[in-house]
Amino acid sequence: MAAISPERHEASPNSAIARRYLFSAGVSLSKRTPKKLPPAYKLYICSGCGYEYDKELGDDEGGIYPGTPYDQIPEEWICPVCGDEKNQFIEV
Ligand SMILES: [Zn+2]
Repeated sequence: MAAISPERHEASPNSAIARRYLFSAGVSLSKRTPKKLPPAYKLYICSGCGYEYDKELGDDEGGIYPGTPYDQIPEEWICPVCGDEKNQFIEV
């Protein structure tokens, strides 16, 4: 079998410049990204007072850790604002 050279070394200074150019282009692109993306998860709103349960925030007073999905909240949990029961929340 013919010997195949594993990898060619391309240590030209141009590659460093190109990498820097791509990096700065990436930064400017990310700055232009509009911040209008809807949340990738559902919110639950209390029908009594309009309190929004956001799983990213959890409910500190109610002992719900940030990141807890609504369906993992214990049934005895109540709205921290008006005290409505969990089943009074509406999925949005
Ligand atoms: Zn409420």
